[in-house]
Amino acid sequence: MFIDGEWVTAASGAVMDVRDPSTGKVIANVPSADQTDARRAVDAAKNAFEAGIWSKISPGDRANALFRVAAMLEQDLERFAKLETRNTGKTIKQTLNYDLPYSVDNVKYIAGAGRVLNGDAMAEYVVEGTSAVRREPIGVVAVITPWNYPLMMAVWRAFPALVTGNTVVMKPASYTPLTTLELAKLMQKAGIPKGVFNVITGPGGKVGEELAQHRDVDMIAFTGSTEVGRRLSELGAGTVKKVSLELGGKAPFIVLDDADLEAASEGAVVGGIINNGQDCANSTRYYIHESKLEKFQELLVQKLRQARVSDPAEPDTDMGPLISQSQQSRVKGYIEAGIKQGGRLMFGGGVPKIPGHEDGYYIEPTVIFTENHQSSIVQEEIFGPVFTVLRTSNLEDAIKKSNEVIYGLGASIWTKDVTKAMRAVRDLRFGTVWVNDHIPVPSEMPWAGYKQSGHGASLSRYSLEECTYIKHVYFDLTGAVRKSWYHQIYGKK
Ligand code: NAP
Repeated sequence: MFIDGEWVTAASGAVMDVRDPSTGKVIANVPSADQTDARRAVDAAKNAFEAGIWSKISPGDRANALFRVAAMLEQDLERFAKLETRNTGKTIKQTLNYDLPYSVDNVKYIAGAGRVLNGDAMAEYVVEGTSAVRREPIGVVAVITPWNYPLMMAVWRAFPALVTGNTVVMKPASYTPLTTLELAKLMQKAGIPKGVFNVITGPGGKVGEELAQHRDVDMIAFTGSTEVGRRLSELGAGTVKKVSLELGGKAPFIVLDDADLEAASEGAVVGGIINNGQDCANSTRYYIHESKLEKFQELLVQKLRQARVSDPAEPDTDMGPLISQSQQSRVKGYIEAGIKQGGRLMFGGGVPKIPGHEDGYYIEPTVIFTENHQSSIVQEEIFGPVFTVLRTSNLEDAIKKSNEVIYGLGASIWTKDVTKAMRAVRDLRFGTVWVNDHIPVPSEMPWAGYKQSGHGASLSRYSLEECTYIKHVYFDLTGAVRKSWYHQIYGKK
């Protein structure tokens, strides 16, 4: 682990295994930290913050340090991509062409945006004075990340905090700590002062909970499940911490009767199996206009048949394994429940046999048609490549049903009718709405949730604002001993 600029083991000496999900084999072990290590990392981050070695240097100097990290990451892109694939089971096609280049772009954007973050400072609001808003760092930010985008989520959550002058204690998911530890090496090489960026590896129940309760942690930036998000809200309340939550999703994918079905079915495959079906934005609920239902299902199944589920390290693999055996059992359970609750299996549903990867945590892309909107495959986040297809009769019905879940992260609408598209944009209660596409989020645009998908913001200037306090500063311009508004006390002459 990386604490206060040093590479250390857990105080207890404990270690934990890290596996390759495509084979189930152990590929590394890392320290298994507990509360003692968490406290040590917080002390380092607090001392670094208070010393001002990072919080009080200029945004330009912080940006330059982060640009050095971006440059090193770009140079080392292939090695990082291979490592991320090995540790997560994501396809190499995805890590090389998406996770890594996009993360580099995210770092560059965030580093640059740190220099243009400002607060209101304009004209006079009252005649006798002038005001300004200062944006100041919050302090020590504990960043807790999930296993589905280990490096990208580290960037999304830690870098806005860093560029605005905070110091960070990072806890990656226990399944996938490897690229975050490699990132710490780049931070060290880039000359980020010691104590500013710390990484501890260990179970969320011990390390994460300690960070959430620690009085010297000023903010939690969490990306993960809604369930753990709720727990962190409770724990953070003890010290009235700022708790920024980016949680689960259950994205609807609405196809109206005038949609380009070729484009919609192509987008549906990508939206459903990207990241092996473990993306918080995955399209999962397909509301298809009844006149197009049969054709859409036919195209979807035809295209899924062509998707290659195999070794994620092979360049033409389209889908790799799930992250773990327990995730595999969970997804199988949802498929069974969906069928029991009235669903009709249209495609997949099994575990593919991949030579050399017999113990990997694979599952076939699966299509289930259901009329039961209360079914668990419609209402709950499965986090696997399960396409739930539903019938809809019109736009209003599709919007209403789309909104009838606890989540509100991403949604898409497929139509050529601009009026209908704009009505959907207005009425879908989701943090992102795509029209005739599903998944892209440029670095400049916010990624944020509605409802139980959380209330944090990643990317864009909003993610930086979230990591700052705002301070109002008021200057008297009169120099008078008795200001005009003192009449409240002294009375009018
Ligand atoms: P998770 O189980 O909530 O775990 C996320 C992180 O929290 C891990 O580092 C985990 O540590 C830690 N943790 C677990 N229990 C904790 C506790 N009691 N106190 C503090 N920390 C604790 O989520 P996941 O399974 O890794 O990730 C999948 C979830 O993330 C999905 O729900 C997905 O939708 C969501 N997600 C959301 C976004 C978004 O932008 N909104 C992006 C990506 C993923 P351990 O690994 O040690 O358990």
